[in-house]
Amino acid sequence: TLTLDGFVRWLESFRARIDEQTAYLTELDSAIGDADHGSNMARGMAAVMTKVGESPAATADELFKTVGMTLVTSVGGASGPLYGTFFLRVGMAAGPVSECDAAALAAALRAGLEGVVARGKAEAGDKTMFDALSPALDAMDAAVAAGASLEEATAAARDAAATGRDATEPLVARKGRASYLGERSAGHLDPGATSTALLFEALAEVTA
Ligand code: ADP
Ligand code: MG
Ligand code: MG
Repeated sequence: TLTLDGFVRWLESFRARIDEQTAYLTELDSAIGDADHGSNMARGMAAVMTKVGESPAATADELFKTVGMTLVTSVGGASGPLYGTFFLRVGMAAGPVSECDAAALAAALRAGLEGVVARGKAEAGDKTMFDALSPALDAMDAAVAAGASLEEATAAARDAAATGRDATEPLVARKGRASYLGERSAGHLDPGATSTALLFEALAEVTA
């Protein structure tokens, strides 16, 4: 199972990856957006770790509510409300628990995806974070259904998120700022799908 402490280490590991790749994420966003995805996510996750450190949560729903609210309020771009809604819904679905097994975690993450879709209306192939998130959760569900451990299930999710991220490169964006470029958005990775792949790298790391 992943305990509350494990959730915090997941967030810390995501933050470290975002910090390490801030310039890269911003470079991706400079090609098809407004060159701020790296700085948006770095600012958001810095604020999240400060808040989480100040008021330690006793349950998953409390923790992820803090994470989600902080992202919504501290990130100006589209990614703030989208990642914020993701974590808010993950927390609501996880509920007042102090740990999750693979099946509970997969269900909570899927509720997060549903929140992203409710908010941003992205569909498969729109060249957004959906294109990393959705295949990751499909892979996680399949692993859980096949009796995989938490470690195996999150490794499958990580690999599928990376494949989904890579598959955004040839796509023409249909949501977000990149969609303003039309055909010219093709030939570049989506920044949000790239940060989402980091989220699953971090999750696989802390469950290994
Ligand atoms: P902004 O576009 O406001 O500058 P960011 O650069 O931080 O915000 O985030 C851009 C990322 O947000 C995109 O790469 C894409 O993955 C994601 N995104 C944008 N619009 C949507 C949407 N409607 N649904 C899902 N994801 C979206
Ligand atoms: Mg941007
Ligand atoms: Mg912006």
